[in-house]
Amino acid sequence: MSTNNSNALDALIQALRRLPGVGLKSASRMAFHLLQHDRSGAQLMAQALNQAVTQVLHCSMCNTFTQTEVCSTCQDSQRDQTRLCVVETPADQQALERTGAYKGLYFVLMGKLSPLDGIGPKDIGLQKLFQRVAPRAAAGEDRPVSVVTEVILATNFTAEGETTAHVISEGLKARGILVTRLARGVPIGSELEYVDLGTIAHALVDRR
Ligand code: ZN
Repeated sequence: MSTNNSNALDALIQALRRLPGVGLKSASRMAFHLLQHDRSGAQLMAQALNQAVTQVLHCSMCNTFTQTEVCSTCQDSQRDQTRLCVVETPADQQALERTGAYKGLYFVLMGKLSPLDGIGPKDIGLQKLFQRVAPRAAAGEDRPVSVVTEVILATNFTAEGETTAHVISEGLKARGILVTRLARGVPIGSELEYVDLGTIAHALVDRR
């Protein structure tokens, strides 16, 4: 049982343990470090956390992190509005952007299907994606339909990424949308973030 003296310390350790891959030992080490050697750093972290949690939202169109209702990429009218590239994470989106080979829009799932870990369609942005691509207007509602004609699946070439791509592909084909997948050339088992730009650009051009 903890005494009143150690409650705040315990609370900090328990909070740090919430981070993925951080166990009791590492959490304790981090807490001791912050309190013993870097109290100003700890204050900065607290402020930054608080700010991020209250100010960072998901883009209403592409689901990525943003501080505005619609992110700057989705607001860019120069981009090809008819193509939508589906990626797992903002880092994957940045990897594709750096190739300069793609001028369409994105949808960021913020995860991947992983039945073994209990991560299903509801835990990632699948419904939001289907709604984005083929919105079903409510009865009598006269809103413009989506102009997306092609969805490019750029989930990772891992087992989970392939499963995710398959489920999206089935869902969208049923809605009459052209679905393409990045061509092989991206090595099996690899994450886009770590693949060189030339390979990604090539996989984009050769998609099918
Ligand atoms: Zn967006």
